[in-house]
Amino acid sequence: HDLDPPFYAGCQDPAALAAASNETDRPNAVLVMLARNSDIDDARHTVASVEDKFNRWFNYPYVFLNDQPWDPEFVRVLNQTARGNARFDVISHDDWTYPPSVDKEEARQSILEQGQRGIHYGGLESYHHMCRFFSGKFYTHEALQPFKWYWRLEPGVDFSCSITYDPFAEMARRGKVYGWTISLWEEPNTCPTLFRHVSDWKESQMIPTTPDSLWTAMIQASWLPYPFRRWMRWSPLHDQYGDVWSLCHYWSNFEIADLDFFRSRQYQGLFEYLDAKGGFYKERWGDAAVHSLAVGMLARTDQVHHFSDFAYRHGSFQQCPANALGEQLEGSIALGDGLYSQEKDGGVGCRCTCDSSKTINFPGYCTNKLKQPTRPDRPWLTWFL
Ligand code: GDP
Ligand code: MN
Repeated sequence: HDLDPPFYAGCQDPAALAAASNETDRPNAVLVMLARNSDIDDARHTVASVEDKFNRWFNYPYVFLNDQPWDPEFVRVLNQTARGNARFDVISHDDWTYPPSVDKEEARQSILEQGQRGIHYGGLESYHHMCRFFSGKFYTHEALQPFKWYWRLEPGVDFSCSITYDPFAEMARRGKVYGWTISLWEEPNTCPTLFRHVSDWKESQMIPTTPDSLWTAMIQASWLPYPFRRWMRWSPLHDQYGDVWSLCHYWSNFEIADLDFFRSRQYQGLFEYLDAKGGFYKERWGDAAVHSLAVGMLARTDQVHHFSDFAYRHGSFQQCPANALGEQLEGSIALGDGLYSQEKDGGVGCRCTCDSSKTINFPGYCTNKLKQPTRPDRPWLTWFL
């Protein structure tokens, strides 16, 4: 059985759910998007989608962040599209640049070389700043201080099932700290030394790997038996135990999570440690990888939630659940995704209009591994590969 089922399957009545809940306080939550002025059309597209599928019933506020001053036209159009209150904020220069410990000229040279080596986004200085920002400074940004929960949005994405319950309220009620939709393999050439640094920090802080920890799911079991596995310590890809990262990570362009988890001394300490290593520039560490390894190390399995009922598309990747029985739309094709397909039983989605034959979710390996890390009958391949 599913250790992490959707909070609700199929369509709900948002007003009735709110009335029935015992909580009197509405979650302190915000929809947040980092964007450039040039992202105006895609930003509007995303907000229109979120409003149509979710926020029309919930009216959560927005925060838009930019490293440049906002173009008044962006503010006008997005204010028009967002029904909730919207705040447009700028990121301070210190939060969008090299840390003091990194030599700028060396870093720029390295970025140039990463571009030449064909590392995905490796040659774009602004992308390195963005990944560093989302890995650490994002969480302490003043505009997010009033909030406890955030839903991260990106320009140009689609939500195509109705979300008829409050995911923030459910996360709070069920003690979750991190929610995700799509998981992928990280491109190893963007972060050859990241895992080693993260596990060195884990070791230095004596953070244990407990039976209910996700860390074992982050790791790809070695084909070498103990104690021979420890020989692999010499490799920067491995940790002190000779284990290696599976490269599985939550795709962070969608996140619904607890800001306090990332504002904690522990997480910010990890960020500072990584920042000082310079890997946001000497390599191209992605915030998705950093968030995921931190969640894998610091959160328990039962604090992480897969929103398997959300239809989410970013670029050519999407998660597309089948509709709950009786809610399938005429003409929509809902094939589900890999081993978690619900196609046999009807699905868990509500009024989904996505077409999973057109775009793909990366099936199987990472989703299975991360979704149910402690489940002994999870597909055998995910234990050994
Ligand atoms: P991808 O999803 O990894 O292909 O990268 P994106 O180009 O979508 O960038 C990820 C997020 O960072 C999006 O929300 C972008 O709008 C934002 N972003 C990336 N670079 C910049 C930048 O230089 N300035 C600002 N303000 N936002 C950026
Ligand atoms: Mn994007």
